[in-house]
Parts: sequence; C-alpha cells; structure tokens
Amino acid sequence: MSSSQAPVITSAHPLIDIIAIGLVLAFLFGLIANRIKISPIVGYLIAGLIIGPYTPGFVADNHVARQLAEIGVILLMFGVGLHFSFKDLLAVKSIAVPGAIVQLTFSTLLGIGLSTLMGWPLASGIIFGLCLSTASTVVLLRALEERQLIESKRGQIAIGWLIVEDLVMVFTLVLLPAVIPILHQGSGNLWPLIFDLSLTLGKVALFIIVMLTLGPKIIPWLLAKSAGTGSRELFTLCVLAIAMGIAFGSVALFQVSFALGAFFAGMILNESDLSHRAAHDTLPLRDAFAVLFFVSVGMLFNPKIIITSPLGVLATISIIILGKSIAAYIIVRLMKHSKRTALLISVSLAQIGEFAFILATLGGSLGVLNDETQSLIVAGAIFSILLNPLVFTLAERYLQSTKTIEEQIIEKAIEEESQIPVTICNHAILIGYGRVGSLIGAALHNQHIPLVVIESSRNRVEELRSQGINAILGNAANHEILALARLDCARWLLLTTPNGYESGEIVSFARSQRPDLEIIARAHYDDEVDYLNERGATEVVMGEREIAYCMAKLIKN
Ligand code: AMP
Repeated sequence: MSSSQAPVITSAHPLIDIIAIGLVLAFLFGLIANRIKISPIVGYLIAGLIIGPYTPGFVADNHVARQLAEIGVILLMFGVGLHFSFKDLLAVKSIAVPGAIVQLTFSTLLGIGLSTLMGWPLASGIIFGLCLSTASTVVLLRALEERQLIESKRGQIAIGWLIVEDLVMVFTLVLLPAVIPILHQGSGNLWPLIFDLSLTLGKVALFIIVMLTLGPKIIPWLLAKSAGTGSRELFTLCVLAIAMGIAFGSVALFQVSFALGAFFAGMILNESDLSHRAAHDTLPLRDAFAVLFFVSVGMLFNPKIIITSPLGVLATISIIILGKSIAAYIIVRLMKHSKRTALLISVSLAQIGEFAFILATLGGSLGVLNDETQSLIVAGAIFSILLNPLVFTLAERYLQSTKTIEEQIIEKAIEEESQIPVTICNHAILIGYGRVGSLIGAALHNQHIPLVVIESSRNRVEELRSQGINAILGNAANHEILALARLDCARWLLLTTPNGYESGEIVSFARSQRPDLEIIARAHYDDEVDYLNERGATEVVMGEREIAYCMAKLIKN
C-alpha cells in the first residue's frame, strides 16, 4: 500500500491536525453531500481521502487517525449498550448466534473462492474471507439510528448478530498467529492453538462474569453519586470515565475488544434510571468521533486499485454486498422471520469496516496478505460503506412497493411483538412517561380519559403494559409511531418530553394531519415556547415559569 503514497510531512501536533482539518473537511463535504441529497458519510470519506497519503497535500497521521476511529467505535457501542439490556441480548440469541456463524462461514468461503481464482495461497484466502465477513459497528448503528430502528426487534437482532461477529473476531485475532504457521506447514503442533483458544474463552467468560456481578453493584451507584453532586460536568465525566475505563480495562485485563467492553459498560448502565441522561450527555461526542471514524477509513483508500485490479474490486464488493446479504436473508427466512426482518438484517450487514482493517493489518504483519489484497479489502470497505445507504433505500422501496401502508404498519407492529395495535378513539396521546408524563397519566386516569402513551424507553413501556396501560414503544418523531397511537382520531396530544425543539417537529407534523387536535406541549426556555407556538401548539407550558409561580404562591407574608 505504500507505492504511491505522498510524502508524510511530520507535524509537531498530529492529533490537533487531524481533528481540526479532518472535522473541517468532513463538515464541508458532509454539507455538500447533504445538499445533493446523498449520505453525509460520502462526504466524510472524501475528507479522509483528501487528508490521506494517496492524494497530494497534507497527510494526516494514520496511527492517530486509527485511534480516534477506535474511540468512535467505543462511544457508539457504549451508546448501543445504553439502549440494550442483557434480557434483550438473550432474547435474540436463538437467531443471532446461528445466523452470524453461518453467515461468517459462508462469506469466508466466498472469500477463499475468490482468492483461489486470484491464485493466492489458502492462508491469504482465509484471512481475506474473514475480512469480508464482519460488518462495521459504526455503519450499522448509523443506519439503524437514522431509521429509529435501534430499539426495534429487527434492530436488536442485527445488533445481537454483530455482537456475535465481534466475539468471533476477538477469537480470530487471538488465534490467527497460532493458526497461520500450521496452515503454512500443512501440519503442526495443535497444543498451542488449543491452549490459546481455552485461554481466550476463559478470559471472555471471566470478563462477562465480572461485568455482570460487580457492574450492577458499582456502576449505577457511581452514576447516582455523581448526579447527586449537582455538577453536570462531573456527571458527564463519570459517564465517559465508565465507558472509556471499562473499554480500556476489558482490553488491558481480559484482551476482549474495546467495542465489546464498551457495550457491556452501556448495558449495565442501562439498568439505571439515569441511562437516558447518560445517553443524552454523550451524544455530541459520539457523533464527532463517528465522523472521525469515517475520515480515517477514507484515509486508507488508494484509488489506484480501481485501475490496477477492477475485477478484483468488483468481485470483493459483490461478496460483501450480495454474497453476505443472500446468506443472511436465507438464514433469517429459514428461521421463520418475515421478509421485512430478513431484508433489514441482510442490508444492515452488507458492509465491512473496522474489524476488516484490524484483521488485514494483522494479516500483513504475519506476512500472509500482500499490498494488493489489503487494498482490495479497503476498496471493498469504502464501496460497501458508500453503497450501504443506497442498498437500504432500495430494500425499503421494494418492501413499500409490495404492500399497502396499512399492511406495512400492521406487519411491523406484529413483528415488533411489543407494539400492540391501538383501537381506541377520542383519546389522549401522551408522549413521554417520565417525571412529567407519569403525573399527567395519573390525572387522566382519574378523569377516566382513555390514554395511549408513546415512550422511547423499553423498560417504561413494559412497566406500563403490565399495569394495563396502552403503550407504544418508539420515538414519537417517527410518523408511523404516531399513526400506531391513532393520531387520526385522538382528541389531545400531550408532549411531555424535555426537548422543545424535538417536540416542535412532532407538533408541526401532528398539526398538518389534524387541524382540530388540541396540542399541549412542555418547554423549558422562552425560545422553545415561541418555536412550539409557531408550529401549531394550542398551549405551551414552560416548566420554569410554573415552578416560579408555585414557589411565589408558597411565600406567606
Ligand atoms: P421526564 O423528563 O422525566 O419527564 O422524562 C421524559 C420521558 O420522555 C422519558 O421517559 C423519555 O424516555 C421520554 N422520551 C424522550 N424523548 C422521546 C421521544 N422522542 N419519543 C418518546 N418518548 C420520549
């Protein structure tokens, strides 16, 4: 990969260079991509290409870029854990475990097939195939987040599947240095391999046991303590320290991957009532590092490979996008899931990313992968990431064209299991069932007003259902979720979520659908009050103002 690299000008501050130049360029190209209605990811990758070694001008430090990308993976996986409970993980194991293993095997075999055609040795074929088989966490989560699918059943299967792939990769990375000499010699001493395998298994098991026994005792307590200090800074710091500290510890002590460590940290935090705040507070940082992840991928790409090995590139992309998808689709369908679930899982896994690079680097250092193979892997990653939003859109279009909207909503509702279709009318739709929403819910109950709650927290929805209250799981900003709550025939829409600007979007959509609906919204700032009124709210209640009135009333002279 070094033949046409631009000379590297060493800088005294490589970290600042890459963050500053990388973010500025990613912003500019992201903006352009957004203007021409393509995914901003394309813009981030181009920014990476520009600061990479294969284009003239400034060359960012590749080593620093990779570490920044890894922080992106840690923060994102932590974020996923925050929405995922251990129960959710166990609930999808029956499909995620066999699915991931069969798909990994199938795509590795395709990789070996291609490498045989190219005349590479078996060891190269195996590593090449493995590189093509593991999807990127960042790309998958971005796609699910954009479509508000993280907490859906299909999204959870895809995430569970990815976690199994992650685990397999952890083992692969550990075992590969022992397996390669055996493959080279044809035979060899199997004992070191068995020893390494048992050691890794033991370490992963120990890590999980430590996390599940000590974690729930220490982490929520730490979080509550730091929230109790009243300092927002200390709270955010505590969340970051937990995410980064556990990710680091999981690698340093147990040799588990950073991503897996961070996922477990998030999952344990998920049990705490403060998990929403933790997710909210770390969001800007997660976004910034996810962008740097894509920039660092762009940096690895050497466009020359398209000219030197066009067929190789095409075949690699086909394996990633078509081969993997077809395998995943068949497995999910065989397990009796719907077409919608099967397609979503297939397309979300039809790309490769960070693990492929780690594995390709290891293959290079073991002397098994040459420059051309590594370039093919990077090209496969770039193109599969670029094409992923398009593949998603095509799959969605296909599903839409084959069914009516009602069929789609009902199918989705049944499939999500937890979405129980609502049949009432003249009711109140209550968005959010936290501190504000729960009190309103009780008041409505006392007045015998029928109620449907929309909540984005799975735990809260389950609790409400156990009390016999109609509850829909999801983000109210999603129009289909509002349709499930029967926006078409509701009498009131009560928005109790704390972000006035997010509520504004919901108000504006609801108003466009129902000019006669009574919409009452919560706000915390004067500008939010104006924003909500402009978008069509009937009444806006500003929390701080009401607190002041109540407190003033309590002053007895
Ligand atoms: P609180 O601020 O304590 O009244 O809690 C607000 C509640 O709203 C929390 O339970 C959140 O899970 C929920 N929530 C926040 N945003 C959304 C949304 N977009 N859709 C549905 N529920 C939400």
